[in-house]
Order: sequence, then C-alpha cells, then structure tokens
Amino acid sequence: MKRFLVFLLFLATPILAKPLVVQNVNILEDSVKEIAGDEVEVAKPLVVTSFSILGDMVKEIAGDKVEVKSLVEPNQDPHVFEPRPQHAKDLARADLVVVNGLGFEGWLDRLISASGFQGDLLVATTGVTPLMHAHHHTHHAHHDHGVFDPHAWHSLKNAPIYIDNIVEGLSRLVPEEASFFKARAAAYKKEVEVLEAQTHEELDHLPVESKKVLTNHEAFGYLGHDFQIVFYSPLGISTESEPSAKAVATLIDRIKKDKIQAVFVENISNSRLVERIAEETGTQVGGILYSDALDVPGTQADTYLKMMRFNLNSLVKAMRKNAEVK
Ligand SMILES: [Zn+2]
Repeated sequence: MKRFLVFLLFLATPILAKPLVVQNVNILEDSVKEIAGDEVEVAKPLVVTSFSILGDMVKEIAGDKVEVKSLVEPNQDPHVFEPRPQHAKDLARADLVVVNGLGFEGWLDRLISASGFQGDLLVATTGVTPLMHAHHHTHHAHHDHGVFDPHAWHSLKNAPIYIDNIVEGLSRLVPEEASFFKARAAAYKKEVEVLEAQTHEELDHLPVESKKVLTNHEAFGYLGHDFQIVFYSPLGISTESEPSAKAVATLIDRIKKDKIQAVFVENISNSRLVERIAEETGTQVGGILYSDALDVPGTQADTYLKMMRFNLNSLVKAMRKNAEVK
C-alpha cells in the first residue's frame, strides 16, 4: 500500500505539488491519532461570528479558550453573502453565535432556521446609538435595509460596547474564564482608546473643508461622525444596488466643486465606479479602505485594530493632501 502511495505521489507531483503536501500532512496526522489510541481530546466551545471583524474581536477577548469561525470570510462582502450548506452546518455546531445586527446580516434569519440553531445569539451592537442612513437614494433598491446604518464598528467609541457585549456572551459560555475575558477586554479597550486619542490629535487641527472623502459605499458614517469627516459614495448603505446615472453625475459635480482629492476604493467591492468618477473629476484613487471585512491573515489589516489604524492613517494622509490643494 505504502509503495503504491509513493508511486501515486511520484506521478502527481509535477502537476499537483501543493495539494499533495497537504495530503501528506493528513496522512501523518491520521497515524498520530491512531497511535494516540482512544485518548479523547476535549473540544473547545465553538463561537460562530457573522463576519471577519467580529471574529477577530472574539479572538482578541477569548484567546485560546474557544474556537472561532466566521461565516463571511476576509475581503468578502457581507451585504451580498450567499450562505452555502457548510455555513448551516457550522451554525448547527455553534455554542454561541455573534452577529452585528442593525439589519447588517439580511441573510441571517433564513440561515438560522435552515441550520436548526437554537442556542445563544449575541447581537454585538446592543447598546450602540445607531446612526440613521446618511441620505436616501432616488434609485430603486432591491431590498429593504432598514433605517439604521449598520457599520457601527467603524466608530472607536462603539468598539468598547462591542467588546463588553462579547465579554458577556463569552462569560455565559465559559463562566469559569469570566475574569480572564474581562482582563483581556480591558487591555483591548485601552488600545482602542489610545488610537482614538492619537487620531484626534492628527485630525482635529485640519481645516473642515479638507475633511471630505470619496469611497465606494456608505460604510464610514460612524467614523465620519466621530472625526467630522464627510464621506461621499456612489453606492448606499448596502453594496447591492447600482446608482442611477443622474446620481453619479451629481456626485461628480460635488467632487469637482469641493476639489476632493481623497478618493478611496474598498477591499470588499468592485472599484470600477469609483475609478470612473476619479477619472472624470481629474483625481486619482489614493488607496484602499477596509470597510466591511478584514484582510487575509498576515497582512496590514488582518485584525480590527490593525484595520482601524490602517484606515485612519490613510485618511489622515489624504486629508493633509486635501488641505494642500485648498
Ligand atoms: Zn457595508
């Protein structure tokens, strides 16, 4: 048998180098399990979060006490997420489910009933003062997104509310680790506080007229509210519907009139429209903002704090550029 496997590996190596390495590891792991015999490893509680940003927050607070799985993966758009059977299976196994709420996960109710999950569902925005939609769009939306802006995690003021809610949920799940979660949460909140103070220091003295930014969709209302930045977007609160030609034309006029130099694309969605607007207004896309998802592990925005730091840093630079033009 072994010889046959080696022969197979030899045959497939040139074409399938990568999967074969994985397969080798699996073979090894299997034998380790066999040697271990009937020793049973105690599984950690499973926390399933709706998207990557919540997944990271749970990991920061829970450390290695739970297993964390996010339904919508890094760099994926939660607005247009289409759950697959595997996601229902993940939910069915979950001991705690953490979602954003405020109408963000429009696909959640159907997925929960499909999975049969009846456990603890934690809404991380509980206690947040929600912002209303920045403005209503004249184009016809395909879905009803509710009246609130769901992107509350972009406020560093809201982050401690998310954190406290997650601590509560985790403490219900693993009560003997409650003080561990609380201590990690306190350190986490301190880091958020420091970042908020630093950003105010860098942004508050810049002229109001320079604090204008163009980006794909209305994801940064809370951030704008905290730091008095005005965000313009061709797409609305959700990424689902296309703007009308008239709406785009109005936006182009606005960008020209306000001489907006700060133009960003987002990690989750198609940047074609923003690129077109930049071209027509004689500006250039200045960079990327992480809106509704983290980046993949090992990158500049693979945690909530790194994402916020990266976004705020990019915005500060862009505002300074705006200020030079005025
Ligand atoms: Zn969004």
